[in-house]
Amino acid sequence: MRRKGLVLAVSAAPRTSSGTSDPTTASAPDFGNAVALVCRECGTRVPLGPSFACLECFGPLEIAYEFPEITREQIEAGPANIWRYAPLLPVPADVASRPNLEPGLTKLVRAENLARELGVTGGLYVKDDSGNPTHSFKDRPVSQALEAARAFGFDTLSCSSTGNLAGAVAAAAARAGLKSCVFIPSDLEQAKQVVAAAYGGHLVAIKGNYDDVNRFCTELIGDEIGENWGFVNVNLRPYYAEGSKTLAYEICEQLGWRLPDNLVIPIASGSQLTKIDKGLQDLIKLGLVEEKPYKIFGAQAKGCSPVSTAYKAGHDVIRPVRPDTIVKSLAIGNPADAPYVLDIARRTGGAVEDATDDEVRDAMRLLARTEGIFAETAGGTTLGVTRKLIADGRIDPAEETVVLNTGDGLKTLDAIADTTGATAVIDPTLDSFREAGLA
Ligand SMILES: *Cc1c(COP(=O)(O)O)cnc(C)c1O
Ligand SMILES: [Zn+2]
Repeated sequence: MRRKGLVLAVSAAPRTSSGTSDPTTASAPDFGNAVALVCRECGTRVPLGPSFACLECFGPLEIAYEFPEITREQIEAGPANIWRYAPLLPVPADVASRPNLEPGLTKLVRAENLARELGVTGGLYVKDDSGNPTHSFKDRPVSQALEAARAFGFDTLSCSSTGNLAGAVAAAAARAGLKSCVFIPSDLEQAKQVVAAAYGGHLVAIKGNYDDVNRFCTELIGDEIGENWGFVNVNLRPYYAEGSKTLAYEICEQLGWRLPDNLVIPIASGSQLTKIDKGLQDLIKLGLVEEKPYKIFGAQAKGCSPVSTAYKAGHDVIRPVRPDTIVKSLAIGNPADAPYVLDIARRTGGAVEDATDDEVRDAMRLLARTEGIFAETAGGTTLGVTRKLIADGRIDPAEETVVLNTGDGLKTLDAIADTTGATAVIDPTLDSFREAGLA
């Protein structure tokens, strides 16, 4: 059925009606209120299938919906995880009844100590997504891709990963009873490799950077080896991406159903940032929040900052870079959604900025010290950038700002292990403690 070697592969017919499964027993895939895939560039509509690029113009495909009326009360009565927003996602109404990791509804922490330190008076919040099942925001998009993989009859869940995604995919597959084979750059932090491998399935380390891994995965999809594989961030990307909308939904619901003034969001491929904007727009359209201006700011690591470089230069497209940074989870040198990130930052009056590795380390310590939240390097990047934006007035301290922490510092201990450790090493005696000068 699938055309070998064709990367875009808009196979309009879902797999359940293809030769690989019995069409007499398979029911039509149910994507809830999602109705089609629409090209973000030219608006061409195609049926919901395992497709990700427009055959007319190669633009990315996105999910389009026909939303019914939906109330705050209906959402609040739902499960205490992302499935409370199921009617706004490409999933069937009974999605919560099937085994999955049930991510979401992570804490929105009112960061008063941090606000005081940074001089913010209008309210500062950290949306702490390290509280997800595999300790990063990636559980959100993966939960959507898992449903799509089931609907299309894929038997193996796969991805190209900068680290957190590999773990999220392997864990989701384990819970769902699917096979998994995930791909990472071989120089990844040990903790991320061990975590991803612990869930079983295959973890394949590729000698190269993320962009090499991604290129390899695109080749696999075109080959018969990958025939029954759902690559969550490649051929299932339109579904996967929708999961990040739930960050927008949760932030607004947790603020008491209103929009914040500013959001600061890390950028790897840019998918999360663009879908948070889409989620905010959903809430406005559905009348679940009152419309008002908001600004979206993007954060990159200086050692991999193609989007902030383009932003500062006033360009609409990026020049790909070779990543060189401790922030490995954001180390994508050629981010797929970069043009849309630039668009959103400019349209909303935000910005894209970057932080050096030292600024990232400082911000990791600052957040831990002020709020008791130990973020991974991506969180350090976002806070490092926030700090700059507040210092130079691009974020008004009198406004309300939400900063995303998208991952857990335990996975990136290497980043600060050299400079952070025991205050003193002593004998178990009072004298020894006194001698250390800590009494
Ligand atoms: C993947 C990742 C991101 C960014 O993801 P994109 O949607 O690709 O921009 C941010 N933070 C962490 C911790 C991640 O793992
Ligand atoms: Zn198109």
